[in-house]
Amino acid sequence: MLIDKFERKVDYLRISVTQRCNFRCQYCMPEKPFEWLPKEEILSYEEMFSFIKVSIDNGIKKIRLTGGEPLVRDDLDKLISMIYEYKNDIDLALTTNGYLLKNQIHKLKNAGLKRINISLDSLNKETMWYITKKDVLCAVMEGIEAALDAGLFVKLNTVVMKDINDFEIMELYEFAKSKGMQIRFIEYMENESANDTLKTLPSREVLEKIMKKHIIEEVPKNESSAAKLYKDESGYIFGIIEPYDDSFCKTCNRIRLSAEGDLIPCLYFEDSLNIKSSLQSNEKLLEVLKTVIKNKPEKNKWTHQTLIFDEPQEISSRAFYYTGG
Ligand code: SAM
Ligand code: SF4
Repeated sequence: MLIDKFERKVDYLRISVTQRCNFRCQYCMPEKPFEWLPKEEILSYEEMFSFIKVSIDNGIKKIRLTGGEPLVRDDLDKLISMIYEYKNDIDLALTTNGYLLKNQIHKLKNAGLKRINISLDSLNKETMWYITKKDVLCAVMEGIEAALDAGLFVKLNTVVMKDINDFEIMELYEFAKSKGMQIRFIEYMENESANDTLKTLPSREVLEKIMKKHIIEEVPKNESSAAKLYKDESGYIFGIIEPYDDSFCKTCNRIRLSAEGDLIPCLYFEDSLNIKSSLQSNEKLLEVLKTVIKNKPEKNKWTHQTLIFDEPQEISSRAFYYTGG
């Protein structure tokens, strides 16, 4: 079992399989950040799997593949198969922008994928274009339909930004509800890579909008889930992710592996250890894993200061396309 110094059990590994992305979301990668890393610097699937096996053997129960955009990396189904064949009861999930999903969904499902989170920030073609800098809405919607048709368990992720998509909250809510998908509204988290004009909409205001139309109550969440869950009068459950609230961290159960092998204990901070030089031996990989977990910080530093007073504050230098969000 993997336990950190704040007594949190770590059983969730998120893997960013590539930093590359076919979108330029304003909150994540508004510009192409650099010349993409050469393939030799990226962990192969076999190398990732060596680490995954050690992680599973030591208590990891849930694995999420993310990125960048995971579906721009060739043959993602191969990595999924490797994990599934090693331990088929691992909770195996994917986070994707959905753009390339329609053509890959059957391969992914057949390989053993169980759950999928799709990012959808707007139902309006122009707004999606503005956020991602590409005409994407139609392909993303087809991806969502394909995932539902394939019988996968689908959630939607929506980053809420003031004056960009905050007026669409109810439309997105009703859309997700009509399709039986849980939607999670995520407070925009500031970071140095994002477009610095963006402003988050505090979760309290998201809830106020929903409460104008529905009677809602908080429901107990899975202890380690990042989202607070709410239920409306019809029983529909949706989530809110608020990194500005410390409870986001109190039950944090996750670590992150980047495409180039950095093992990262917290989404916010720069700290990490690279696993590449330890790939030859399971003992060394386990040592890196234990060291990173031992050094997992108590909490992130996103604070309500920015939200309330609009004052400049320390912001995270970690890019989401690197950590996988
Ligand atoms: N490309 C995939 C996607 O967009 O779903 C997976 C990677 S993306 C980095 C993972 C998640 O992080 C997405 O749901 C995205 O909306 C979220 N994200 C990225 N930047 C964010 C930010 N600054 N604040 C809050 N969420 C963010
Ligand atoms: Fe790409 Fe996902 Fe980042 Fe958008 S949020 S730029 S889709 S990695």
